[in-house]
Amino acid sequence: MCILVHRSPTPAHPWNAQLRVITIPAGLSCASELIAVRAVLAELGIPQPDDEAVCWCGAPVEAYRVPAQRHTSEGACVAS
Ligand SMILES: [Zn+2]
Repeated sequence: MCILVHRSPTPAHPWNAQLRVITIPAGLSCASELIAVRAVLAELGIPQPDDEAVCWCGAPVEAYRVPAQRHTSEGACVAS
């Protein structure tokens, strides 16, 4: 089962190991969300490629599977 991303107005714990859920603050920009998610993934010891957030299995974390042509477009991330 892959890592999921939840957005919460009041994030208590950035990482829930039982549910494999990363919780980030709601209302961040797309770029800030990606930074937040990558930071948690890096804390978990998962190497992160440029411009992407990946699960430990190597799959992109679902909310951040951004098509290449949209990399420069703010707010182009896919809401889960
Ligand atoms: Zn996975």
